[in-house]
Amino acid sequence: MTNGCEAALITCEDYRLHQRADGRNYIGEFIEDLGKDCDLITRGGGIQDIVRPENHGYSDSLMRDIEVSVELHEADTLYLVNHEDCGAYRDMDFSSRKEEIDRHYEDLKKAREIISERFQDVEIKLYFGELIPGSSDKYEIKPVQSSP
Ligand SMILES: [Zn+2]
Repeated sequence: MTNGCEAALITCEDYRLHQRADGRNYIGEFIEDLGKDCDLITRGGGIQDIVRPENHGYSDSLMRDIEVSVELHEADTLYLVNHEDCGAYRDMDFSSRKEEIDRHYEDLKKAREIISERFQDVEIKLYFGELIPGSSDKYEIKPVQSSP
């Protein structure tokens, strides 16, 4: 038997969020604040492959990772965390910071819809890592406000 965990978190592979030479780990700190044991699924662009897969298999592959957490590790909450200045979104050529953040928020909401069709009993929470003003590598992870 495996050990059950409480949650899983899907985020970008970008080292600035969690694997830094300076020892900061924004994702690790976020999980510590949640106080939950958490599987970590990393992928370039976070949930982008679910919303806009360049290749059909990319979405299936990410769904498979989620399936392992939910069905094998018994995660009942999923945290989706995208972030500002994401390389996987760079070719979208955003004309403003607002446009960039709006795109991520839309993608996160769409991803929640798609994931919850398949994993109906799982609670899905959306977060976004914003760069701290004036910084190119320091993040603050904030909840995505639900809008009507
Ligand atoms: Zn990224």
